[in-house]
Amino acid sequence: MINDIQIPLNIIKDEALLDRIETRHPKRDFIEDCLGQNRAGHKGEKRIRYYINLLNEHNLQVLHSIRLPGYNTAFQMDYLLITQKVLIILEVKYLSGTITVGDPLQQCIQTDENGKERRIKDPLTQVKQHRLQLIRWLQKNFPHHIPIEYLIVNTHPSGIIRVVDPKSEYVEKFFAEERFPHKFQELISSYSQTVLSPNMIHQLANLLKKKNTELDSTPLKIYNILQQEVLKGIMCPHCNKLSVKKGKKKWGCTLCGTTSSGLPRQAIKEYFLIFNNPISNKECRDWLCIQSPDVVKRLLSNMDLKVIGKGKNTRYYPRDNSFFRS
Ligand SMILES: [Zn+2]
Repeated sequence: MINDIQIPLNIIKDEALLDRIETRHPKRDFIEDCLGQNRAGHKGEKRIRYYINLLNEHNLQVLHSIRLPGYNTAFQMDYLLITQKVLIILEVKYLSGTITVGDPLQQCIQTDENGKERRIKDPLTQVKQHRLQLIRWLQKNFPHHIPIEYLIVNTHPSGIIRVVDPKSEYVEKFFAEERFPHKFQELISSYSQTVLSPNMIHQLANLLKKKNTELDSTPLKIYNILQQEVLKGIMCPHCNKLSVKKGKKKWGCTLCGTTSSGLPRQAIKEYFLIFNNPISNKECRDWLCIQSPDVVKRLLSNMDLKVIGKGKNTRYYPRDNSFFRS
């Protein structure tokens, strides 16, 4: 049984950034496109959970979104299924329209309902690269002979998969979500030897969880946006304007009158998401567009943040990423 899967940090970061760049910012469309793809990916990963929970396999361990340091760069697997006989990397897609794969040029084409075609990343190449990187990682960190397999599943309810070459590996490896339990069973049955004891499965899963590193980058770097392009202030959740100020008793919107004590906290959270940096009292005043160092000190102290440095050099930073999901 796998529990609720966490919303990826890059989605929360992109959402925070989009709230704080001009409506007509030239990169807005591109960021929205990336955010849309990441949201679709997350949707697919949530959908496949249902089918994973149907699996009836002893000592199965399921890890979601494991990101490990690779040869040159990190690699991230949507799911890794650890069984006593084999490891299975599961690549999850959420692709609508018709997906044409397995042509001689190894192109993967998505055709929408209007017949418009676009080339997308070849999932087979991708998952095979992950397999190679996982082999290398295991050699270094968990040197046992464990076979590694891979499957690709499309979770979009109306997505159609078309394989051009019937001899292509795609025929066996890429399928719609409802076939997943059957394909999983088929794969497990093709291995007769047990290579991992329940205890070893436990050890390996713990090691992978320990070495898992969430992508820790600022969206400013990813999208090449300058610090001065980011709008400051506290956002009103009702008007979506940076129009919240501190009143005598409460924090409230100067346009619609919405009040909430949680609004400055949310704005500070957005600072960490966008800049990925510790914040000083002065930087926080500048960010929230307020003058009082005492008010900011109280705000920051009440947020259970990690405190770095002393006196004027005091800076605050979240203890871990769970801060962003609370
Ligand atoms: Zn408002």
